[in-house]
Amino acid sequence: MKGLIVVLLNLSSGRTMYTSNAYLVLGNHNALDDVNTLVDVGRDPLIMERIYEAPTGVGKQRIEQVVLTHSHYDHAEALPLIHEAFHPVVYAYSPSLEGVDHILNGGETLKLGDRMFEVIHTPGHSHDSICLYCEEERTLFAGDTTLIVQSLGGTYEEQYVHALEKLCRKDIRSIYLGHGEALLKDCNKKLRNTLRVVKESCRLVASSSGRTVE
Ligand SMILES: [Zn+2]
Repeated sequence: MKGLIVVLLNLSSGRTMYTSNAYLVLGNHNALDDVNTLVDVGRDPLIMERIYEAPTGVGKQRIEQVVLTHSHYDHAEALPLIHEAFHPVVYAYSPSLEGVDHILNGGETLKLGDRMFEVIHTPGHSHDSICLYCEEERTLFAGDTTLIVQSLGGTYEEQYVHALEKLCRKDIRSIYLGHGEALLKDCNKKLRNTLRVVKESCRLVASSSGRTVE
């Protein structure tokens, strides 16, 4: 059995506009019960061409499911195009987005390709951000949840600290980001380091404002 099949559909190479990454997750053998899934759709119509080029399986709907990591336009704007062409089932945390069939709360398990993923609510970058984690593959789709913070001094909401704590409890080997290249090295270490810097920054802000923070 091969590992997780992830096809990066966007678009940083030859892209025509600013857009997020979109990932197509397929099963190993394109079995009928594998769920061809797009994680984010971006906003570039070029995605349609890429989908038609992808090996999505004979006799299967090319896109059966869409999971949005959050509702920012650069991740979600192409949804009507995808919807019209493939009629997928759409999942997102945000209740305000048009075209969403199922509202996520975090804690759900979804099948992407032939693997099971846990939905983790990770507010911070936006209140409706989620990450998707596959324990079997130790893989995380992170959307725009900020995972690498190097220097002290930012201000962070408490819920972002909790989100990072949740991620730090996972064993992660690869992280697919909303923009740019995947992280394939030292993921756990980078996450723990980020949590440390963020917590320290919170403590500095709190002490300069006279509050105490646990
Ligand atoms: Zn965003």
